[in-house]
Amino acid sequence: MEDFEYWNIDNLAKTIETQLNVEATNELLELKNEVDKQLDFGERKTMIRYLYTIVDTSASMKLKDLKPSRLACTFELLKTFIENFYDKNPLSHLGFGIMKETKMSQLSDLAQYSREHHTKLSQLKESDSNEISLKNSLEIAMELLKQTPLYASKEILIILSANSSSDPGDINETIEELKRLKIKVSIIALSCKMFVCKKITENTNGTLDLATNKERFRDLLIKYANPSVLNLDAIQVTLVPIGFPAKRTEEIKVIKNPNKPAESLFVKTLCSCHDSKMDSQHYICPRCKGRNCDIPAKCGICNLNLISASLLARSDPVPKFSLIRVFLHDEMRENGRYEYETMHLQELLGIQTKCSSCSEPFEGSLKTVKHVSCCPTCKSFFCLKCDVYIHDSLFNCPECI
Ligand SMILES: [Zn+2]
Ligand SMILES: [Zn+2]
Ligand SMILES: [Zn+2]
Ligand SMILES: [Zn+2]
Repeated sequence: MEDFEYWNIDNLAKTIETQLNVEATNELLELKNEVDKQLDFGERKTMIRYLYTIVDTSASMKLKDLKPSRLACTFELLKTFIENFYDKNPLSHLGFGIMKETKMSQLSDLAQYSREHHTKLSQLKESDSNEISLKNSLEIAMELLKQTPLYASKEILIILSANSSSDPGDINETIEELKRLKIKVSIIALSCKMFVCKKITENTNGTLDLATNKERFRDLLIKYANPSVLNLDAIQVTLVPIGFPAKRTEEIKVIKNPNKPAESLFVKTLCSCHDSKMDSQHYICPRCKGRNCDIPAKCGICNLNLISASLLARSDPVPKFSLIRVFLHDEMRENGRYEYETMHLQELLGIQTKCSSCSEPFEGSLKTVKHVSCCPTCKSFFCLKCDVYIHDSLFNCPECI
């Protein structure tokens, strides 16, 4: 009896943390924890971001405190960062620049998904000079971000290894201009937190972090890949047209032999987004009927944002599902308690006795700990497997849609 977690009606009603009988392995619980950790629900997220990332390539990037070297480690982690960024911000743009000998040069354009980032980053080399200029770099990035739409959030992320900056003129003027343009600057420092970095990030609403080891560096990049909290002061709220294209395979039926069924012949046609690429599968723009190779992207003809509903949902994660454990023991059944408590729980949950998603019944063998997840919005109940699937792959609560 003492092992039984008694259900308090008031607490349940208040927290809506309700749970029935589903067996859950430790592995599933760990997975749920992993997925939940990345959810930062409660605040509205920025859906359209223009993030310009500047990588320091000064001689200090040759240091081997991050293995195999600071630059090689940065490149390795940035590969995952790029995938993560596009995965979580399907309507956003990402671009790269490098700081080298007090100058900044553009590595890749601000773009929706682009392979160019990977190829250009893989060619990076450390320079022989230890000099960099934060002021020059910020000014060039600022010029690029000036041209972005007013409804988008403008962000600069600097990966900084050098521990000094040679700036011509007054950096305070640059900070004022960044503030005026509402550009958020965040810095991941690999050596130390310089005072000037603190000043830049504090004044522009960004953050300054020190990557003391590879794991910390990776976590920080995950943080910047996740959609940032929406700051209504930094953007102009407007309606953005978005189209949901249909995927179409172009084929014709050919009857070669009248005694046999017609055969499909795939027809390759030109797309509107490349110069001379031919394919038989395209996404058809709902506005101009133009053929596009991939989504998310802007239509090659009418410039409409093309995306699928499931991709769009990634910018707005499903809230964390609450989880409570129930202990049920054979003795309870023997003395009638099991039946009573189960009925009691079912009364609280209504008549739901199976997972809202996969219909797996919330019944398991006795003498085990059972788990059920509850969506705080629609109050539907799910098994743990579905909870993980919803947060990790589906990005939509099937009952909330
Ligand atoms: Zn194309
Ligand atoms: Zn179009
Ligand atoms: Zn399920
Ligand atoms: Zn729901």
